[in-house]
Amino acid sequence: LVHRSSPTHQTTVSIAGVPVGEPGLALIAGPCAAESERQLRTVAERLALMGIQLLRAGVYKPRTSPYSFQGLQEPGLELLRIIKRDYGLGIVSEVMSVAQLDRAYDVFDCFQVGSRNMQNFELLKALGQTRKPVLLKRGLAATIEEFLGAAEYIVAGGNAQVILCERGIRSFDPATRNVLDLGAVALLKRLTHLPVLVDPSHATGRRDLVLPAARAAAAVGADGLIVECHPTPEQSVSDAAQALSLDDLAQLVTEVSAVAQAV
Ligand code: PEP
Ligand code: MN
Repeated sequence: LVHRSSPTHQTTVSIAGVPVGEPGLALIAGPCAAESERQLRTVAERLALMGIQLLRAGVYKPRTSPYSFQGLQEPGLELLRIIKRDYGLGIVSEVMSVAQLDRAYDVFDCFQVGSRNMQNFELLKALGQTRKPVLLKRGLAATIEEFLGAAEYIVAGGNAQVILCERGIRSFDPATRNVLDLGAVALLKRLTHLPVLVDPSHATGRRDLVLPAARAAAAVGADGLIVECHPTPEQSVSDAAQALSLDDLAQLVTEVSAVAQAV
């Protein structure tokens, strides 16, 4: 179901009215994690000025260590509900379990499946039963076949609103957090009709590499970007090294739009 039947077969997935999969770049931006009402309001106000209509912010965080901040959880859900009401942004946020999916259902406009859960098949089946968009991130070391197989679970369940996201894969070299697989983006654009986004933040792990990686993603034909930013990047509770300042994000928007127009 996820394979392309012809070169022009392309699906558009609409997140809170914002089309993903159409010419031009769809942009999703926000902090790695929701931390406070003040943080979210500061980001939301700037996104509105930049014309970005989709906010990312995790409230359920899949942390490597159980002793690290696990996200604000339910109080975070209530914050996102307020931000959505006050700023009219669409909310893209991660769920790691079916129970979280149920709790977040009326707040999230798009459910993010994180890299670590790409093959959480029970979660994928539950998302297949919903009628909301899903942003499926590529597993840490997933092959393209495994990635598309995971997407197939959701679509086979009856939910065709799936967006794929290349976020870098594991390699032997820790110099960058992950390796952005641009070849995979080009290949996915040929294999599937589903929209393909790139996450230059987790792909590189360094804020100084996010802009060049984002430009490359636009040039290779990605349908959009999901980018991490923070009002005070160095103070981010999670993923501080890769968070862009809000000024850097504005610069990125200008530069990638120019690239996308040239493609
Ligand atoms: C995230 O988007 O904050 C995240 C945890 O991403 P990934 O699942 O790609 O590591
Ligand atoms: Mn993150």
